[in-house]
Amino acid sequence: MPTSYDVIVVGVGAVGSATCHDLARRGLRVLGIEQFSIPHNMGGSHGNSRQTKIAPYIGSDYEPIILRAYELYRELVEESGQTDLMVTTGFLDLAPHRNFPGYKKNLGHFEDLNAGQIQARFPQFQIGEPYWGAYDPAGALLRPEVMITTCVRLAMQRGAHILGNTKVLDWSADSGGVTVKTDRETYTADRIVFCAGPWTGKLLKDLGIACTVTRMSFAWVWPLKNVKAYELGAMPCWCIEDEDGIYYGFPMMTDVPGYKIGLHWYGQPVDPDCFDRTPNAHDEELIRKGLRRYFPEANGPLVGLRTCLYDHTSDDVPIIDRHPGHDRVTLCGPLCGAGFKFVPAYAEIAADFVEKGRTELKSDFLRIDRLLANTKTA
Ligand SMILES: Cc1cc2nc3c(=O)[nH]c(=O)nc-3n(C[C@H](O)[C@H](O)[C@H](O)COP(=O)(O)OP(=O)(O)OC[C@H]3O[C@@H](n4cnc5c(N)ncnc54)[C@H](O)[C@@H]3O)c2cc1C
Repeated sequence: MPTSYDVIVVGVGAVGSATCHDLARRGLRVLGIEQFSIPHNMGGSHGNSRQTKIAPYIGSDYEPIILRAYELYRELVEESGQTDLMVTTGFLDLAPHRNFPGYKKNLGHFEDLNAGQIQARFPQFQIGEPYWGAYDPAGALLRPEVMITTCVRLAMQRGAHILGNTKVLDWSADSGGVTVKTDRETYTADRIVFCAGPWTGKLLKDLGIACTVTRMSFAWVWPLKNVKAYELGAMPCWCIEDEDGIYYGFPMMTDVPGYKIGLHWYGQPVDPDCFDRTPNAHDEELIRKGLRRYFPEANGPLVGLRTCLYDHTSDDVPIIDRHPGHDRVTLCGPLCGAGFKFVPAYAEIAADFVEKGRTELKSDFLRIDRLLANTKTA
C-alpha cells in the first residue's frame, strides 16, 4: 500500500466517509484514516436513524446547504441503489405555541396545524391545546450507518484507500505538503481534511477555539398498544418542544425492534476518550418523561438504550473552512449536534476547498473567522 496520496481524510465517520467519496469521484488519490472499525458506535453517527427536513431552513443561511444536501442524498441513493438510505416520512414539529423557530409562513414548504388537526391526522401524539404543529412533507429519515458504509464502499470502488482501526497520533503541514503519523505508519499527502467530529478539539489544539463534547442518550421502546400506528408509513419523524429540551423520534423500522425516541439538549460535557458510555437509569428517565407526557400508549418495555456524542463550537454553528494558518488543511467539523442532514453538502464544500481552494456553495457563515474574532475579543 502506498504511503503518499493527493489527500488524506482524518476520521471516516459521517462527513469523513462522504468527503472520501466526493474526493474519489473527482479522481484524487485518497487515503481515509479511521481510529475505530467502520462503521462504529463510538462517535456522533450511530443509532440507525437521523432526521431531515427543509422547511425551517428556507430563508436562512442554511437554505442552499439543505437543498444541496437533499440533491446529493438522492444522487447517492441512485448511484448506490441503497434505497433505504433516505426514506421520505414527512416531518412534524410540535410546540406549545405557534412561533416555530425558522418556519416562515410566506415562504411555504409546510402546513400549519392546530391541536384538533394534529389529533385527527396523527393520533399517536397525546397533545391538545395550546399545541401547534408545522408539517413538512419533505421530511425524511436518514440512515447513518448505511450512509457511511455506502460512501466508503463507493469511494473504495473508485480507488480510495480507507483504513479502519488506525489512529492519527500527530500531523504537520508546510509548504511542501502534509505528514500524518498514525499508530501503524506515517503517510504524506498534498492536502489534508479533518473530519474528526468529537475529536476535532484534540487534533486541532493549535486553532485555540473551544470544541466541547457532550454525552447524549436515546432509546427504543415497544409500544403498549396500537403498534401499527408507530410503524413506517403511519408516523412521520417528529420533534416536540418541551421544558427539558426537544424530544424527537422516528417511526419504527424493521432493523431494530421498537420505537426510537431521544431528547435533544446541550448534554453533559465529557472527554470523548474517557467517559462512561454505559447507559444508566437517568438516561432512561429522560426518555420516560417524554413518553409519559406525549406517548403514554408507547411507554412500554425498554428494548434498547444507547449513548452518543454531540460536538459543539461556542456558537453551535459548524466549521467548514480552510485552516487559517495552513492552505493545505481543510476543517470539516465539529458539525454541532444536528449536522447529519447537511453532511453531503458539507463534504462537497470540503472537497471544493481541497480541489480548487474555494467553493461556489454559499457557506460563509460556516467559516472559522467568526470564532477567532470571538477568541480575540474575549
Ligand atoms: C443522538 C444523536 C442524534 C442526532 N440526531 C440528528 C438528527 O436527527 N439529524 C441531524 O441532522 N443530525 C443529528 N445528529 C448529529 C449528527 O448525527 C452528527 O452531527 C454527525 O453525524 C457527526 O458526523 P461527524 O462525521 O462529524 O462525526 P463522527 O461520525 O463521529 O466522525 C468522526 C470520526 O473521526 C474519527 N476520528 C477522530 N479522531 C481520530 C483520530 N485521531 N484518528 C483516526 N480517526 C479519528 C472518529 O473515530 C469518528 O469516526 C445527532 C447526533 C446524535 C449524537
